[in-house]
Amino acid sequence: MDAHPVSSDVSVDLLERFGGQGPRYTSYPTADRFVEAALVGPCLRQHLRALAAGPSTVSVSPVSLYLHLPYCESPCFYCGCHKFISQDRTRGTRYGDYLLRELTLKAGLMVTRPIVAQVHLGGGTPNFLLDDDMTRLMQGLRETLPWQDGAECCVEVDPRFASPATLKHYGRLGFNRVSLGVQDFEPAVQRAINRIPSPEGTLELIDAARSCGFESVNVDLILGLPLQDEASFGRTLDRVLRARPDRIALYTYAHLPSRFRAQRQIGDADLPTPKLGWLLARLALARLGRGGYVHIGMDPFALPDDSLARAQEEGSLHRNFQGYTTAPEGDLIGLGVSATSETGTLYSQNAKTVPGYYGHLDRGELPVLRGVELTPDDLLRRELIRGLMCRFGVDCRSLEARHGIDFERYFRSELEELAPLQDAGLVHCDARAVEVTALGRFFVRRVAMVFDRHLRKARQRATPSSPQSGFSQVVGRA
Ligand code: SF4
Repeated sequence: MDAHPVSSDVSVDLLERFGGQGPRYTSYPTADRFVEAALVGPCLRQHLRALAAGPSTVSVSPVSLYLHLPYCESPCFYCGCHKFISQDRTRGTRYGDYLLRELTLKAGLMVTRPIVAQVHLGGGTPNFLLDDDMTRLMQGLRETLPWQDGAECCVEVDPRFASPATLKHYGRLGFNRVSLGVQDFEPAVQRAINRIPSPEGTLELIDAARSCGFESVNVDLILGLPLQDEASFGRTLDRVLRARPDRIALYTYAHLPSRFRAQRQIGDADLPTPKLGWLLARLALARLGRGGYVHIGMDPFALPDDSLARAQEEGSLHRNFQGYTTAPEGDLIGLGVSATSETGTLYSQNAKTVPGYYGHLDRGELPVLRGVELTPDDLLRRELIRGLMCRFGVDCRSLEARHGIDFERYFRSELEELAPLQDAGLVHCDARAVEVTALGRFFVRRVAMVFDRHLRKARQRATPSSPQSGFSQVVGRA
């Protein structure tokens, strides 16, 4: 496959035909297929019992932990995340205790305690937690399960509410990766989304993270926000590029005011037109490519020596609910309100309200609300879609051997549907492999969507009005 994945040859015509919305495929089936069922809790118990069970008490299969911190101090108008607005940061004290209670409950069900290879704190706003609460939380995590040497430990940080001292503290607690939610540096855009991080303060945080020994610094940007234009977004990109973070994640804003109340503060007239959205996407591709960043898949770009870029090069990139990751493929234990776990063939999601979540744990129950157990067809398609998203191709023969199918016969209609993408030079298919071309990497989600059986069934869904691009859509990032 082509070793140079950034392509600024993406034309407006290609974007019109193959860009647009679609799942991010951080799971397959996607979360909108999860169902509320009484059986999910018992299934999760069973999967936790079997988790990492090896021939001895030494774990053979590392796990990842995801902790969801649902509180934020101030609402961003573009946000559709699962969060609660509060200025009372002491709420985090109790919440942190419940996170540890949940982990203790889950660890108690495991026959073999697995080793932790990756920890990710997301939100909401993880830095809503007071420093002492963060200390207790991190100590509690380490006391409950053993950690691998050099485990990847990442925290999402809202730069408006963090200082270099915060990052210094996080560095001492063992965090080695940080993700800063910038979104846009232009004052008019920041006012329109009610999120005004100072560029100087954010750049100071990037410097602080480096001097505290963080191995990787990520900056999130969103295109398609109100009042953005090519000149203003170009200025934001230039500022970020001068700071040279190890990773830049680029998302597209999804405007869904009927679903997300906060978005009603954003007037339709202030949003970039679809055409401007495409131009912004092209601008970003070109600038980041010229800046030496490797386009990893959909949203992230990374410097060539970043572990994400190296994993892509080596074919060891994985994808889970946090997006692309270098952690080995394996089970993911979600903790906190609305957090999702992936254990064996089960996806399960926690209760979505704080009282509901606390109530389950007070009764000694797993705080599970809904989920899905994967069928053999789901497992086949999950492997195929992950192959496309992470390695930009799949070996049809090995899928046939592992899943007992005849690839061409099983996916006849999907292969027919891929023909226009093949004609446009985005994908190449023959009897041996499906490969996404360098140009097609920007549209990899569109290729994956062809193999999504659930999506094929529900094709006729209504679509939101927002600029479209090949980057994945987002409705909120800390
Ligand atoms: S975008 Fe992030 S910080 Fe802003 S309200 Fe949503 S979750 Fe909170």
